[in-house]
Amino acid sequence: MIMVDTKFNFIRVFPYICCMFPIQYNEPLFRPPSEARSLILQLTLGCSWNRCAFCEMYAAKKFKVRRSEDIAQEIEQSQRFDPMIRKVFLADGNAFVLSSEKLMDVLKKLKVSFPKLMRVSAYALPKDILLKSDDELKKLRANGLKLLYVGIESGDDELLGRVNKGETFSSTAEALIKARNAGIKLSVMVLNGLGGKNFSEQHAINSALLVNKIQPEYLSTLVLSFPFGEAHFKKQFNGDFQALSTIELIAEMGLFIQDLDLEKTIFRSDHASNYLILKGILNKDKDVLLERVRNVLDKPEHASLRPEWLRGL
Ligand code: SF4
Repeated sequence: MIMVDTKFNFIRVFPYICCMFPIQYNEPLFRPPSEARSLILQLTLGCSWNRCAFCEMYAAKKFKVRRSEDIAQEIEQSQRFDPMIRKVFLADGNAFVLSSEKLMDVLKKLKVSFPKLMRVSAYALPKDILLKSDDELKKLRANGLKLLYVGIESGDDELLGRVNKGETFSSTAEALIKARNAGIKLSVMVLNGLGGKNFSEQHAINSALLVNKIQPEYLSTLVLSFPFGEAHFKKQFNGDFQALSTIELIAEMGLFIQDLDLEKTIFRSDHASNYLILKGILNKDKDVLLERVRNVLDKPEHASLRPEWLRGL
């Protein structure tokens, strides 16, 4: 998943009276970069799966569903603080795991409280989507849930199994197509370097295949990091993991982009973890992006890459 620690979020959103902001968050709190100006509302704490080998976002939190009364109170307090709120992001890791009834209840309260509300979004796991019927998804969409962020990480089943993602190519494709058919927009994330040297090619090719099937509105990539140390991550691979070098990471990106076939997807690899910053609309900008990758691979010594000290990890 793409994430930004939101410790300072409300200072950016409400710069002049941040000390009066009404919500006491249960930290750590994460949100996608594009939700910097949204009201963040924690419906759940932590992640209900919390077993991915590469992720430490909620390692310190036990998954919990928050009480409806507490959520309702926070909506009321936020309404008094700023009734003109336009965007709301439902946290934590997968607020979409909640039943459709609970989500509908929150969406209705938000709609009544914020007359200018344009969009509600949340992180979701494919299994959370599959638990809801087509009709439920359509009703959620009709009541304001317009965007889901899904860390698909890879389209390669062997690799998804190694990193304990709890999803497969098919489960992810089925779930995300179901959400799209209900009119919900999708922002998906792929993890560059997830399989190291041995899985690099199949990771790039199968991830592109999966993204092509989904045709999401937004696609971004992050670079794998080792929150629990490289040795811990390697255990998942029975010692069969060799991290990619910077240039190999960029070569993998090239193969991934080369295999993408998208109608109209906004693509970003500008997260703090990325060495090479790429932005464009796919397929329209595919040749330009591939040329940028080729330039780095041909002349790495002249490449303009994000230095290690600027990678916000
Ligand atoms: S599902 Fe997402 S938040 Fe949960 S452990 Fe995996 S990557 Fe982390």
